[in-house]
Amino acid sequence: MLKSFLVLNMMALGGCATATATDAKIAAPESVALAPETLKSAEFEEAMAEADERQRVFSDPAESLALTGDLVQGGLVFATTLPGARVSLDGEPVMVSDEGRFILGFGRDHGKSALLVVTHADSSVVRRALDIADREFPVDRIDGLDQSKVSGFTEAQLKKIGEDNAKKDAARKVSDPAPFWAGGFSWPVTGRISGVFGSQRILNGEAKRPHSGVDVAAPAGAPVKAPADGIVRLAESNMYFEGGLVFIDHGQRLESAFLHLSRIDVKAGERVKAGQVIGAVGATGRATGPHMHWSLKWMGTLVDPALVAGDMRQADNSGR
Ligand SMILES: [Zn+2]
Repeated sequence: MLKSFLVLNMMALGGCATATATDAKIAAPESVALAPETLKSAEFEEAMAEADERQRVFSDPAESLALTGDLVQGGLVFATTLPGARVSLDGEPVMVSDEGRFILGFGRDHGKSALLVVTHADSSVVRRALDIADREFPVDRIDGLDQSKVSGFTEAQLKKIGEDNAKKDAARKVSDPAPFWAGGFSWPVTGRISGVFGSQRILNGEAKRPHSGVDVAAPAGAPVKAPADGIVRLAESNMYFEGGLVFIDHGQRLESAFLHLSRIDVKAGERVKAGQVIGAVGATGRATGPHMHWSLKWMGTLVDPALVAGDMRQADNSGR
């Protein structure tokens, strides 16, 4: 698995000293209702077209940004810049804390390059073209699932699925601007990895969407711990596909989901600390056996939890 540590110096780009209209909308000082979509800015399109200019960006270090993480499909990067900065990635505004902390995420199918734009409090603008490494994703065939959880849903089942989706959508409408993620991530439960992020799924012979997270096989009843600090946004015991489901908001639109839980120990709105038990492993919803499914979403884009949780051999096994 690709694992890298990056500390990148930011480069000031000459001749771009003013904030654009898009950049001016970036700051989000408190919990905000999230817009359903954001159009890519003309500035982004223009910058991506000018490869020569991007090369120059790298030649003028200014030490105003540090990035830590994986510049790879499914990767998350944790960043620190100067207080008061505003940030966009690929033309979309990113939440930044008052101290200048923010996250960047790259989806399973992200292209080879991303554009980071940081507008400092003094209106100077720095841009950085990031190279995003490709990953190979395996094909994952799972048979023996209850067919009623795969296709051919009845009216009543579709109604339940629709109600579940509305609850999930509502829970994702707010995110705290605080960087609860800053203390780092650890595995919520340890055990054999029985499913990896991004695999192409074939369920009972039917092609489905890629696997949204990582599966860890563990005995039913094993404690599931919060992988990082956050605020519980959803705690539902009976979702159609997910079964027992908990969402934790780690701040700045980074959110964990834990599926198939047999028991839930937290309530929506509750503040949780890293390592706190939030529930127990189960096989509720669409599952062939007890396991914990963990998904991680940043700004609506699924990323790979295994990349942030690190080596499981070094994880705390005391809860098993
Ligand atoms: Zn899964």
